[in-house]
Amino acid sequence: MQQIDDAFSITAAIIIVVTVAFVQEYRSEKSLEELNKLVPPVCNCLRGGQAETLFARLLVPGDIVLLTTGDRVPADLRLFEAVDLSIDESSFTGETEPSLKTTYPINTKTNSVSDRLNIAFMGTLVRCGNGRGIVVNTGVNSEFGEIFKMMQSEEAPKTPLQKSMDSLGTQLSFYSFGIIGMIMTLGWIQGRPVLEMFNIGVSLAVAAIPEGLPIVVTVTLALGVMRMAKRKAIIKRLPTVETLGCVDTICSDKTGTLTKNEMTVTAMVTSELYRADVSGVGYNGSGEIILSEDIDSYKKQMDSMKRLLEIGCICNNADITGGQLRGQPTEGALIAAAQKLDMFGIKDKYLRLQEFPFSSEQKLMAVKCIPKFGPKDEEKFYVKGALEKVLSLCTKYCSNDVIRPLDADRHKQFISESQYLGRKGLRVLAFAYGTKLDDLSFVGMVGILDPPRPGVRESIRTLQASGVSVKMLTGDAMDTACAIATRLGFYATGNAVISGQEIDALDDHSFAMRIPSVSVFYRVGPAHKLRIVKALQKNGAVVGMTGDGVNDGVALKKADIGIAMGKIGTDVCKEAADMILIDDDFFTIMAAIEEGKGIFHNIRNFVRFQLSTSIAALSLIAFSTLMHIPNPLNAMQILWINIIMDGPPAQSLGVEPVDHDILIQPPRNVKEPMITRELITSVLISSSIIITGTLFVFINEMSDKIVTPRDTTMTFTCFVFFDMFNALSCRSQVKSVFTIGLLTNKPFVISVTGSLICQMLVIYLPQLQKIFVTEALSVGDLLFLFCITSTVFIVSEVRKLFKRRAISREKRNQVYQDHMV
Ligand code: ATP
Repeated sequence: MQQIDDAFSITAAIIIVVTVAFVQEYRSEKSLEELNKLVPPVCNCLRGGQAETLFARLLVPGDIVLLTTGDRVPADLRLFEAVDLSIDESSFTGETEPSLKTTYPINTKTNSVSDRLNIAFMGTLVRCGNGRGIVVNTGVNSEFGEIFKMMQSEEAPKTPLQKSMDSLGTQLSFYSFGIIGMIMTLGWIQGRPVLEMFNIGVSLAVAAIPEGLPIVVTVTLALGVMRMAKRKAIIKRLPTVETLGCVDTICSDKTGTLTKNEMTVTAMVTSELYRADVSGVGYNGSGEIILSEDIDSYKKQMDSMKRLLEIGCICNNADITGGQLRGQPTEGALIAAAQKLDMFGIKDKYLRLQEFPFSSEQKLMAVKCIPKFGPKDEEKFYVKGALEKVLSLCTKYCSNDVIRPLDADRHKQFISESQYLGRKGLRVLAFAYGTKLDDLSFVGMVGILDPPRPGVRESIRTLQASGVSVKMLTGDAMDTACAIATRLGFYATGNAVISGQEIDALDDHSFAMRIPSVSVFYRVGPAHKLRIVKALQKNGAVVGMTGDGVNDGVALKKADIGIAMGKIGTDVCKEAADMILIDDDFFTIMAAIEEGKGIFHNIRNFVRFQLSTSIAALSLIAFSTLMHIPNPLNAMQILWINIIMDGPPAQSLGVEPVDHDILIQPPRNVKEPMITRELITSVLISSSIIITGTLFVFINEMSDKIVTPRDTTMTFTCFVFFDMFNALSCRSQVKSVFTIGLLTNKPFVISVTGSLICQMLVIYLPQLQKIFVTEALSVGDLLFLFCITSTVFIVSEVRKLFKRRAISREKRNQVYQDHMV
């Protein structure tokens, strides 16, 4: 059509739009890729005869890998040792039953994964047992590599928010096309040039359809996920971010999350009821054992203490070298206590014949040993565990060097001693030994201190103030659990508590009825966690549940947000979780919830902004056509608005710093849509002001009925200014922009300033004037436009003021009603 100028400028516009979209999409993909690298898989491997922990990616064929329960297999391994080794290969075979592995050669012609029982495949999960294998294939060469290649070609599924944005986009496109069709037909009936109408129609379609919306949402989510990673919470899937702001119940493990998991034995009570306090902290021998009373000879009492700690060291898998602990902190605490009595290398003096490993279900560990040196005594069991578990296996107790039958009185005394330790917030561990597992002699108990993490009390208070209820789940006894919960401020004497045993006795319905009032669950195991999640969800709660063990996986999957411990958690539970806490800290959960709330709030803000721009642009042309007046904006100007509005300012609203008031708002209803009635009202109010103001300027300028470049420049600039003011007021839905601070969102300041500078160039640069059909405006003109366009901002600020007043009135009424009650 010989319109070379337009062809060039429109091509340039398209290139800019496409480049901006591409860069944004690329950035979000990249940041998601980065996320996968944040928790690199590690494994235990044997190199040069030494066991070391290594990043799985550093493995090479020939390395020897040690597998234990809860591990993720780091490479394809040919097994040469397998003790009860069951591996979950469901990711390959779809079979949920774990496959029991062997080490024998297998003669099979088939190549199926389930037949190759002597191979542990990369990416599968060790459900129980342990084993060793030699690396045969790594990375892409492994069996998993094949699946991975297939997975890479699959697009990641969209999040609910992305889906709703897509459908919003489709709906808007549908309506926009309808309206555009109508405008074009009307124009045609009015006898306007068809080509001009077509031009306008196309540019309107570009401006009105918020095609940038889904990508801005993705970028905002991805940036939020990166911010959370900096705050030590790894979000594994984007949809999790949306759910975070809806969480209204958090079930947290005690040890390591609410407490530091830095265990120290601080009290000892032997079966003779000798009591001692233990001083010193850390995994070392500094500190001493201070006897409480002078009830018997010092030597007798010390011998008894030593007997207790000796069992603690024999029935132990941890070791302390150079002040560094390898193994469980609870077991490390026992070794450190023994070192305070100069007891070193106790475990090495015994040959372990059998082990019944500790599990959260059994709450007990037992080993069968014989002494390595000296007279080969008969085999003995050495047992440690929760007091009631150990006592249930004891028929006798040690009284100095004599073994006496355990009568009901002594039994009661031991229980009351353990309750006394528990009430001080100590974790109680009891010890016994004997020749038969069901006929043991009780030797005493220790109280282990695990102090609450600093800051947790405050986090719990903040969460509770915002309507999130916090529940503590622990394997520990009631007294210990209640003492810690009291210290953390979410339990007071008289509040409801429930034990794993009681949960077992309740049916699902009665449990769901009871659960809302309970904040402390004691002596619970992984199976109870699943029932707790289900009962809470039955009551309509959105549950965040923490976990670390192999058996926590199911509960984590079932919870709305499964939270795995980054430090102490097994690979199995990290796999099942939606979020991983790098530092296992409860505070991080609160930080993630805050981010989740903030992100949703920001997304709503830029949706509000973009919708008002789209509706205003579309209606402006529609009205002018209906009113029989020339179009106020030409095609290039509409495209320009689309480029500078849809892009940077909208995106920068997505990175608005999280407002503290949003954080203390109650959790969002999961069913609440993104586009609420309130949002639509404010969009309609803003776009009506923009339309009225722009049409007013246009009609005012065009009083001579001839459209001059000055008229369109004024209208065009008016629209752009309106939009910038609208963006400014969209930064918060309730707070005044002056309260949040004009300069607090740097990207916003930069993008709005950049957009305004570009607009000035379009008006004043002769080359651009030609393309956009504009001309220079005077300072007076700009001031005039500034005053008119600021109305959208002023009206929005006044609305916010009324909203704030209504909120505080509501709050006052609430306080008054509470007071009356
Ligand atoms: P929390 O829920 O507080 O995070 P947990 O669920 O991890 O703790 P467990 O580790 O299951 O609790 O511990 C439950 C009980 O088992 C403890 O009170 C203690 O008596 C006993 N116990 C803990 N660790 C061991 C161990 N290594 N050997 C023997 N008994 C243990």
